[in-house]
Amino acid sequence: MAKQELILLAIDNSAILDLMDRALRAAGYAVVISRDQSSMQRSVQDAIPSLLLVGETFGGKDGFSISTGMLERFPTLPIILFANQDTTDFAKSALKLGLSGYLYPPLKMSDIVDEVQRCLVRARGLGDWLRREVKRTTASLEEKNKISESERSRLETIIANIQDGVIVLDVEQNILMINQAVIEIFNLSGRSVLGMPLKKAIQNADLHALMVRSSEGALKYHEVNFDDGRVFNAQYTPIPKVGSAVTMQDISYLKELDRLKNEFIHTISHDLRSPLTAILGYTELIERTGNLNENQQVFLQRLQGSVQHVTGLVNDLLDLGRLESGFDMRREVVSIENVLKYTLDMFDAQIKSKKINVDVKIELDLKPLRANPIRIRQMMDNLVGNAIKYTPSEGRVGIGLFMQNDQLVLRVEDTGPGIPPDEHSRIFEKFYRASNKPASVEGSGLGLAIVKSIVDSHQGRVWVEANPGGGSVFVVLLPAHE
Ligand code: ADP
Repeated sequence: MAKQELILLAIDNSAILDLMDRALRAAGYAVVISRDQSSMQRSVQDAIPSLLLVGETFGGKDGFSISTGMLERFPTLPIILFANQDTTDFAKSALKLGLSGYLYPPLKMSDIVDEVQRCLVRARGLGDWLRREVKRTTASLEEKNKISESERSRLETIIANIQDGVIVLDVEQNILMINQAVIEIFNLSGRSVLGMPLKKAIQNADLHALMVRSSEGALKYHEVNFDDGRVFNAQYTPIPKVGSAVTMQDISYLKELDRLKNEFIHTISHDLRSPLTAILGYTELIERTGNLNENQQVFLQRLQGSVQHVTGLVNDLLDLGRLESGFDMRREVVSIENVLKYTLDMFDAQIKSKKINVDVKIELDLKPLRANPIRIRQMMDNLVGNAIKYTPSEGRVGIGLFMQNDQLVLRVEDTGPGIPPDEHSRIFEKFYRASNKPASVEGSGLGLAIVKSIVDSHQGRVWVEANPGGGSVFVVLLPAHE
C-alpha cells in the first residue's frame, strides 16, 4: 500500500467495530470511528475517507438509507455494508443500491482486509477511468474551441477584406462585428463600437429606418444617403441564433447613371412635346382643308391615335421627372374618400362595359391627408385604373380605405392575372411590365413608377401582394394629417 488510506467505521456493534479497527490498522490503514450519525457526516465531509464501512443499522438508522444518502452526496465514495447475517435479499439490495461490497459474520480479520482492499482497488480503477474520461473530454473540447477560434479568425479576415460594408448584430442589435468598409463608410476610425447598440454607435436615419422596418418584417433593402452624395444599398438579413447582418454596397455610380438617364429622358421628352403638339395640330387642320375620302379618314384617325399615345407617354415621363426632382411641394388637406369618388366616376363607363363588380369599403373615422390633391388623384387613377384594366370581364375589384395607427391605408385588390412574386420588387420600376401581362392589355410601364414617386414624396409606402384568391393587392400607407 503506497500511502495510508483512511477508512471510516460507522458500526454500532462494539465487538465487530473493535475487530475491524484492529484488522484494518494492522493492514496499514488509518481508521476513524464514528459514534453517531452527525459525527459520521462530519467525518465524511472533513476527513474525506477512502471508504466507509457502515453497519446494517447505525445510530438507530437503517444502513441502507444511510448509504443511499451518502451516495447521493458522494457518488464515488466506496461503501461496504456490514450485515448481521448473510441473506440473499440483503445481497440483492446491496447490489441494487450500487454499494461496493458487503460483509457478514462470521468474520475473520483477513475477510475484512480483503473486502476493503478489493473495494479500494475497484474504486481506484473507477477513479482512473473517470480522470481519463474527463481529460479526454477536456482535450476534445479544447480542440473544438481551437477550431472555432481559428474559424472565427478566418471569418473575421474574410469579412474584413470584403469590399462591401458588413455589420453583424446580436438579437438586441448590439454590434458583434464590423469590417473596415463600414468604418470608412461612417467615418468611425478611432472609435470602438463593438458591443454598442447600433443606434448609438452609428447615427444614420436611413440605417435606423431599415432596422426598424426590417424587424417588423416589412423591408429588407433601404438606400442609405450621405450629404456628400454617396448612396449605399443596405440589405438586412436575419441570422438564426445570432441576430442579424447588414451589408452595404456602394451604388453611388449607379445612382449617377440613373440621374444621367433620367436627365436624358427628360430632355428628349421635353424636346418631343412641341413637335408632337404641332403634328396633332396639323392633323386637325387637314380635316378642315377639304373633304377626305374614307381611306384618308381612317389613316388620319390612326395617326391621331398614335400621336396621342406618344404624347401621353411623353407627358407621363415629364411628370415623373418633375416628381423625382422633388419640386412637387404643394400640400393641402385632402379627403382621400372624395378623391376615390372622382376616380370611380371617371372609370364608370369602363366598369359597366366590363361588368366588373366594384366593392368599396370605407372606415367611418378616416382622417384626411396633407397632400397634393392632384398627385393623390393621379395615384388613385393609376391603381384603380390598373385593377379595372387587368381584371377580366365580370371580375371583382375591392377597394378599402381604413386607418392603422396614424396611417391611412388604401387597399386595391382585383381578380386579374396577378403578378409573379419574384417580380413584386421590380414592378414599380420605370417601363417594367410583368412577364405574365395579358398581350391584349396595352400600357407603358410608367403608371406604377408614378404611383411610387407620389407615395414616396408623401412619406408613404406602397407594395404589392398576391391576392389569396388569385389576382393582386396593392397597398398604400400614407401618414394621416392630425
Ligand atoms: P402599365 O401601363 O403597363 O399598366 P404600370 O406601371 O401601371 O404600367 O404597371 C406595370 C406592370 O405591372 C403592368 O405592365 C402589369 O404587368 C403589372 N400590373 C400593374 N397592375 C396590375 C394589376 N392590377 N394586375 C396585374 N398586373 C398588374
